[in-house]
Amino acid sequence: MPTIIPLADARASSQREALDRFVRAAAQGARASGALADTRGRPLRDLRISVTDRCNFRCVYCMPKEIYDANHEFLPRAELLTFEEITRLARIFVDQGVTKLRLTGGEPLLRRNIERLVEMLARLGNIDLTLTTNGALLAKKAPSLRDAGLTRVTVSLDSLDDATFRRMNDVDFPVAKVLAAIDAAAAAGLAPVKVNMVVKRGTNEASIVPMARHFKGSGHIVRYIEYMDVGATNGWRMDDVVPAGEIVRAIDAELPLEPADPNYTGEVAERWRYRDGGGEIGIIASVTQAFCRDCTRARLSTDGKLYTCLFATAGFDLRALLRDGSGDGAIGNAIAAIWRQRADRYSEIRTENTARVPKVEMSYIGG
Ligand code: SAM
Repeated sequence: MPTIIPLADARASSQREALDRFVRAAAQGARASGALADTRGRPLRDLRISVTDRCNFRCVYCMPKEIYDANHEFLPRAELLTFEEITRLARIFVDQGVTKLRLTGGEPLLRRNIERLVEMLARLGNIDLTLTTNGALLAKKAPSLRDAGLTRVTVSLDSLDDATFRRMNDVDFPVAKVLAAIDAAAAAGLAPVKVNMVVKRGTNEASIVPMARHFKGSGHIVRYIEYMDVGATNGWRMDDVVPAGEIVRAIDAELPLEPADPNYTGEVAERWRYRDGGGEIGIIASVTQAFCRDCTRARLSTDGKLYTCLFATAGFDLRALLRDGSGDGAIGNAIAAIWRQRADRYSEIRTENTARVPKVEMSYIGG
């Protein structure tokens, strides 16, 4: 299994220098007119912001313990974007058409005073402001996050079976605490809670139906995610993927389902509702039914690099512009130029071989 430290890799590459030159030239260029769309006609609508590359879990498919151990070098504090820098960039992204911001990581609730950032972002106006968390610190923080202006929350939970879940998070964290966090989030007004379950063959398939049964009728929405080849440390194999079709068939056999229309173009999850009116589930079939065609997402890494695909190998350094005195107009120009030349469609061309390309880790780029 390759042991790639993404930042060192990205900093060393000549690709890095070429990207930096591109960003600088774009910042100084004239703003192209017209609506912002990439080379495949996709608009820029969503920004995922990784606020920390640290996590208190060591999920075996995301931050395996053997790599993210006591010797792993996380980003030093000075490398992180400050809340002011994140908010400034977010405002510029909103000016470019972004309507949805998601805070993620790493574990976003580990970032000190995260509520202050939520408050600053909420002031940007009419945006959907949400956050993805493993739930460990959520029960305590849900009311203050809601008060700060968070609209919704997504909680990751890979199994209701305590032994399976503890094995997957690899820090012995119990299911009961995540369930309590989901209740606390709902009580604080962050409902409906979306519950993300990554399905990995031979690891937690047996939890698919119990998870559906548990949340059916609760108003919360379980979203089953096909296990993906993000990063380069999780040893992904196509055989580990439980295809969306199999997940739907397993649930439908016990709790009959019917397809539901998407809420909007570009929605990541395919919606299915229970025939008896007991709510809905989502399926994120990023491997077997790639949705690159409608992908409107950009990602901002913890240290301020812009990635136009979850599976990118390098990003564009916006922090350099923030810290060299560039104005908002120049930064907006750079973002627009980066988006206009975007051609990513990794999930459409994925094979066992492309999976070995050293992509950046999800904890750094933001899940
Ligand atoms: N720490 C937070 C959490 O646990 O939700 C946010 C970051 S985490 C990287 C975001 C989401 O990505 C989680 O729902 C996680 O399960 C999912 N994820 C991580 N690695 C994945 C992989 N290889 N395939 C599919 N989903 C993955």
